[in-house]
Amino acid sequence: MSVLVIYEPGRAISAETMVAAQQTRLPVSAAVIGDAPELASCKLDKVYHVQHDLLAPYTADAYTLALAQLIARVKPELVLLPHTYQVRDYAPRLATRLGRVLISDVTAIRQEADRFVFVRQLFQGKLNADYTTQGPGQHFVSIQAGAFRGDQLEPGAGASETFTPDLDAALVRAVAREPFRESQRAVDLTAADLIVSVGRGIREKENIAIVEALATAMKAELAASRPICDNGWLPMERQVGSSGQTVSPKLYLAVGISGAIQHLVGMKGAGTIVAINKDADAPIFEIADYGIVGDLFEVVPALTEEVKKAQ
Ligand code: FAD
Repeated sequence: MSVLVIYEPGRAISAETMVAAQQTRLPVSAAVIGDAPELASCKLDKVYHVQHDLLAPYTADAYTLALAQLIARVKPELVLLPHTYQVRDYAPRLATRLGRVLISDVTAIRQEADRFVFVRQLFQGKLNADYTTQGPGQHFVSIQAGAFRGDQLEPGAGASETFTPDLDAALVRAVAREPFRESQRAVDLTAADLIVSVGRGIREKENIAIVEALATAMKAELAASRPICDNGWLPMERQVGSSGQTVSPKLYLAVGISGAIQHLVGMKGAGTIVAINKDADAPIFEIADYGIVGDLFEVVPALTEEVKKAQ
């Protein structure tokens, strides 16, 4: 039995997926399309560098055909993928091509007797559901951002091999155009190490500048709870939560955010959570590592000044 991780370069969630794979205690290999030199220092059986001219730019057709060939060759029991937008695009097709389903957005894996149990969240994180697989692999599982700690990746080394799939240009039906300008500008909160997030406690749009100044001083990304984005005070791409982005920064500073479950599911994987809230009973304090009970309009400017001084 073995695990194959499909590693997406440049995504923190790829390291998290590797940790999920290493925690199965099965031999782990990784497949990568593109450059990921960091894989050379990971504890892996083998790194497969999947190379073909038709794999750039990305298309679901080419990725599906190439990875199906690699999987047929390697024959892993489990195929783990990071739950990125790209994976959401091609992984269901890849699994279907091999007569399988994809167990998507998994937050935990445990072993019971001789089988693995995969945990997915339902109803905005209110319920956890257990999924098991039937029959021999390959079984396809995508891992939710923030569910595993990328910094727990076991270091080491492994062999490396170039895999050149047999791809026919006629079978690549999708034509990749230039990315939309919006998507070039889009922030990728999932890759941020530091996030300062603002909630309804900020009262009005003009006040966001106070929290933005702190984010700038800390060289952090600015994020928000849903009401802030619903009001159009910040773009939707900065929303954290069940209907926004799932993030796993080293530090998440929640300012004037109550800690509703829909927000928590998007940020509970952060390394350290700090909350500033004037209500000592706000649910956010239940998951915060550090809490400041106070008025954000006093605390945040003072914190900004201290951060500037420290730098
Ligand atoms: P509130 O709950 O209003 O909290 C504001 C907090 O600010 C309070 O705790 C208050 O004590 C504090 N405060 C007020 N004034 C100050 C001050 N001067 N100083 C310090 N603290 C102060 N929410 C998300 O965030 N992300 C999602 O993706 C998301 N998806 C959802 C999906 C569905 C289907 C549904 C139904 C809801 C979703 N929500 C989501 C909304 C969620 O339920 C909450 O309503 C929302 O998270 C609350 O945002 P908030 O904490 O900013 O505001």
